[in-house]
Amino acid sequence: DPRLQAISDAIRVVPHFPKPGIMFQDITTLLLDHKAFKDTVDIFVDRYRDMDISVVAGVEARGFMFGPSIALAIGAKFVPLRKPRKLPGTGEVIAEAYDLEYGSDCLEMHVGAVQPGERVIVIDDLVATGGTLSAAIRLLERVGAQVVECACVIGLREVKGQRRLNGKPLYILVEPR
Ligand code: IMP
Repeated sequence: DPRLQAISDAIRVVPHFPKPGIMFQDITTLLLDHKAFKDTVDIFVDRYRDMDISVVAGVEARGFMFGPSIALAIGAKFVPLRKPRKLPGTGEVIAEAYDLEYGSDCLEMHVGAVQPGERVIVIDDLVATGGTLSAAIRLLERVGAQVVECACVIGLREVKGQRRLNGKPLYILVEPR
């Protein structure tokens, strides 16, 4: 797909962010490039429009930057998967913890946002180990949803072999060198 090179070129790499040694893939520059941003959304929309998807679940925060546009275009709802204590209404939230390189984090979802049997895609900007997406999959499966695929703009090549996504397919647009 000839659009992928321009999408890749629009993603900025910020060395040593947020800490020394990390080469941060920054999609904010992609959002500034109307053509590349639209092409990114269009590629996902073309892939998912006829797959009977009723839910696009976005991972906080950068999944929120792509998910709603895709959801609107394919006729699905958007469900935010949020960091702890951001979603209002305590009893109505379920949580899944996941391990990070140092420590752990957690994603939360409103119970009732997704019904049993609904077909879902999970979207985020980037997949590295797959730990975040796996937590998202567990959350959705706990409420009886069917996770059809996970979708990311960027897939980090280095950790490809170790990715664990509970057997779910992963669709990525670009793999930085
Ligand atoms: P994983 O759980 O190891 O797959 O890491 C993916 C999560 O970390 C996603 O939510 C990403 O937004 C975030 N992340 C890790 N590295 C980067 C990066 O270089 N740029 C943007 N997000 C990143």
